[in-house]
Amino acid sequence: MKITLLGTCDAVGTPKLGCSCPACLDAHAGGKSRRLRFSILVETDNGRLLIDTSPDLRWQLLKKGISQVDGVIWTHPHYDHYAGFGDFYRVQDNVNVYGLTRTLDYITNYLSFMKPGRHDVNFYEPFELLGLGITLFEVTHPPVEESAGVLLAFEDKKIVITGDTSKDIPRKSLNLMFSPDLLIADAIIPPTGTIPKHMNAGEAMDLASELRAKTVVLTHMSHMFPPHDEAVRHWPLGHDGMEFEF
Ligand SMILES: [Zn+2]
Ligand SMILES: [Zn+2]
Ligand SMILES: [Zn+2]
Repeated sequence: MKITLLGTCDAVGTPKLGCSCPACLDAHAGGKSRRLRFSILVETDNGRLLIDTSPDLRWQLLKKGISQVDGVIWTHPHYDHYAGFGDFYRVQDNVNVYGLTRTLDYITNYLSFMKPGRHDVNFYEPFELLGLGITLFEVTHPPVEESAGVLLAFEDKKIVITGDTSKDIPRKSLNLMFSPDLLIADAIIPPTGTIPKHMNAGEAMDLASELRAKTVVLTHMSHMFPPHDEAVRHWPLGHDGMEFEF
């Protein structure tokens, strides 16, 4: 099983339009600060699954040479997590999509020209897909009423993707998330500030220790981090194209 971080940026993308901060300059120069918006690709012997479909999805799939997927999970109905799905129009019919009812309602209304195969999922109710055990768990991402993190169980491995969340994750979810082999955690800014609907890098690292994560990688980063090569001396930042094999 392989996990690829297709996009590791926040909604803005790095470089940010019109910005010449150190991270954006590094991104313009082709450094690892260059980040597309959030999608994750999960590949097993049985097929391919996307977790969220970034507005940059078309480029992400072109880079990977992929034109077909076997499923999509949406964590929540924010534009930077679903909009690229519209690019599947005329590429692939009837994609199977999974998510909470409110999330699916919102996204399928926005993309009403598409007719995906809809699979409504409830928090904490595991389902099977492509040889993976998958559970959506509740996180906290105000003002979104329902936002999900994703737990993937593969053989004896446990992979946890926090989705977009503040540090106030419900206890029931923390129990489920405990002791992951890999934690992919939202960390939108360095610990110098706080943002109510996301974790900063310090909060994400605190979560990793509380969960006793064997490996942690940060994602959903804004341009407010130092350039990638400098930032990774302080925090385990992911980068676009980063892969994990299990
Ligand atoms: Zn987001
Ligand atoms: Zn910038
Ligand atoms: Zn969001």
